[in-house]
Amino acid sequence: RAKSDGRGNYRFFEKGMDAAMQHRRAIESGLKLGLTRDEFRLVFQPLMDLESNRISCMEALLRWEHSEMGFISPVEFIPVAEEIGFIVQLGEWVLKQACLTAATWPANIRVAVNLSSVQFKSHRLLECVQRALEEAGLPASRLELEITESVLLSDSDQTLETLHALRAMGIRISMDDFGTGYSSLSYLRAFPFDKIKIDRSFIEDVGSTDANFEIIKAVIALGRSLGMATTAEGVETEAQLDAVRSHGCDEIQGFLFSRPLPARDALELITRLTPRKTEPKLSATS
Ligand code: C2E
Ligand code: MG
Ligand code: MG
Ligand code: MG
Repeated sequence: RAKSDGRGNYRFFEKGMDAAMQHRRAIESGLKLGLTRDEFRLVFQPLMDLESNRISCMEALLRWEHSEMGFISPVEFIPVAEEIGFIVQLGEWVLKQACLTAATWPANIRVAVNLSSVQFKSHRLLECVQRALEEAGLPASRLELEITESVLLSDSDQTLETLHALRAMGIRISMDDFGTGYSSLSYLRAFPFDKIKIDRSFIEDVGSTDANFEIIKAVIALGRSLGMATTAEGVETEAQLDAVRSHGCDEIQGFLFSRPLPARDALELITRLTPRKTEPKLSATS
């Protein structure tokens, strides 16, 4: 009986694997086709500066609407794109589009782009970033690059060199999802980031657990003493906003203020919230 159970389980397992493999293969082959078929687009989510109460930056987030499978989350397709190396090409497209879009915004609003650790291994990154900026006519000071701890995991001199070279161009470097890696603190020592983005998981139940509250407090204080700005990710409630604000967090990002928006809506939000110095007062009423 044990044998037949085993076989049954095995078959079930095999079937499950088949479906998962097929789905994965569909994503794999769909990625390249998707780029040529124009199935990707960027949405933009604002980062709010808590001192000025203004948008300081918009994070570009990738979206994929597959012709047959429909919407697929970046959480699902980015790792596949990384595994097959396609993230280099896809990331190039993201950089280009993000810079082109940001070039249409007021000059005091930056754009943040997520970079995969695989892009750092491509040796084409610097050139690719430079070209995206040039083609869009966007000053380097208006670009922020978000990296996760996985970029620094390899801890190669090459990676650090690239980060320093990007910084020397005038680009800001942010540490994304801070606190979720194995050794978050050591990464802060490895590179002088401009910004620490405190992971959403610490913000989530800031009201209900004292531990998260203390951790947020400590990270904000740490950032301050290291000269790094702090952003709270995933702020969804007023209570969370109050908590991070009271401890001197510099920026918030989250559904409370805005969800990620298509480029058109992003521009509209920016225009509505950003006073333009050059605009004559008259037009304010029109
Ligand atoms: P991330 O860079 O940490 O981006 C923030 C994620 O949190 C986004 O998910 C955003 O929609 C979500 N988020 C923002 N505010 C809230 C909130 O208040 N509540 C909740 N529940 N979620 C919130 P998204 O767009 O699904 O992206 C997931 C991840 O995929 C990103 O995390 C990033 O690691 C990766 N990703 C997205 N676009 C790109 C890209 O162009 N290149 C690379 N390499 N990775 C990307
Ligand atoms: Mg990010
Ligand atoms: Mg993040
Ligand atoms: Mg995240």
